[in-house]
Amino acid sequence: MPMPFQPEREAPPTAGLPLGLSDLAGEVPAPLTALAAAWLGVEQVQLECSGTAALTIALATLHEHARSRREVAIPAFTCPLVPLAIRRAGLVPRLVDVRPGHFDMDPQRLAEACTERTLAVVPTHLGGRTANVAAANAIAHAVGASTIEDAAQALGARIDGRFAGTYGDIGFFSLAAGKGLSIFEGGLLVARDEAWHERFRRVSRRMARWRPGWELRRTIELAGYAALYRPHGLGVAYGGPLRRALRRGDLLSAAGERFDANFPMHPVGRWRRAVGARAFGRLPAFIATTTAQAAARVPVLASIPGVHVFVDDGGTWPYLMLRLPDEATRDAVLRRLWSSRLGVGRMFLHALPDYEYLEDMPGGDDVPHARDFAARTLTITNSPWLDDASFAHVCAVIEAVVVSR
Ligand SMILES: *Cc1c(COP(=O)(O)O)cnc(C)c1O
Repeated sequence: MPMPFQPEREAPPTAGLPLGLSDLAGEVPAPLTALAAAWLGVEQVQLECSGTAALTIALATLHEHARSRREVAIPAFTCPLVPLAIRRAGLVPRLVDVRPGHFDMDPQRLAEACTERTLAVVPTHLGGRTANVAAANAIAHAVGASTIEDAAQALGARIDGRFAGTYGDIGFFSLAAGKGLSIFEGGLLVARDEAWHERFRRVSRRMARWRPGWELRRTIELAGYAALYRPHGLGVAYGGPLRRALRRGDLLSAAGERFDANFPMHPVGRWRRAVGARAFGRLPAFIATTTAQAAARVPVLASIPGVHVFVDDGGTWPYLMLRLPDEATRDAVLRRLWSSRLGVGRMFLHALPDYEYLEDMPGGDDVPHARDFAARTLTITNSPWLDDASFAHVCAVIEAVVVSR
């Protein structure tokens, strides 16, 4: 039955697992952490209130066992929440430039950055594409540091058959809105050596105190997400604010990157855990669907001259990540598509030194490849709600812009 008023369809920027009414109430198959542990093939999983909080707790725990080590090596192109988590744990982010044209840390630059002051190295997967964790492990272990795999955007991705996030000494995943499985905000923490879990729990009890106000807010936000994360709801919840921010020229708000150093840390309440547990069973099939869609769409994009599409075997596909010949071309594409309801946007706006709200970080004066990567990349949603005709339109716009330059 047609509704009297139905908002226009809008595709989300990433392929998040949609929630259904049946996720909001009813029986819980098993605790969310048990379901995640069984699927990931690890003994234990710890739930925190965000990926950022999970990283903070991992770092604070590591630091208790290596008091003289205060530096954490991270890619110079990553989520700005990562350096905020490092500072919150009382530590210092050290920026490492990426490989030319890529998001992964340059192994040689990483080796140069690692010393006896290094507590941890954070190899980072982006958009389901995996980083070279083996190289990071070797470089970190050579100086007595640990690796914390940032798999915030890679829940379900595999490297040589094993799950991303379980390759490093420690790994974390994000359950934030739009990142695969979501309880609006949440994070999962895993460790190769099970002994860490008891220590994580101790630190978590100290750092993440019960905050009823925050949990109430997240409960309302998750209910809103369940209601509006659908083709005719996203214009209200996501597209409208995005287009208003773009009209103001407020790119930080458009990209959702106005982050606060004082991010909340608190336990996740029972209702949100139950919602995640009920939805969890659908995640593998959803990943299979989005993987099949990406397999069909990547070759179409890759056939456009000058467009590089990031691919690998075994990853997940929340969005398709593209690198264009230069910044002007990328910006010309975004002028036509960012506000178009077709799920096109930017990943992170800047290399980390170029966020005004992040103070200076060691290594930040020499990250040309991270800046180049930030300037030339864009993302296209891999949500099944972007239908084939809309995807073809996106490709046609990109091709027209690239060819005209
Ligand atoms: C989103 C994200 C984080 C932080 O996760 P939250 O759950 O949003 O706190 C960390 N690293 C990367 C690469 C991310 O994309």
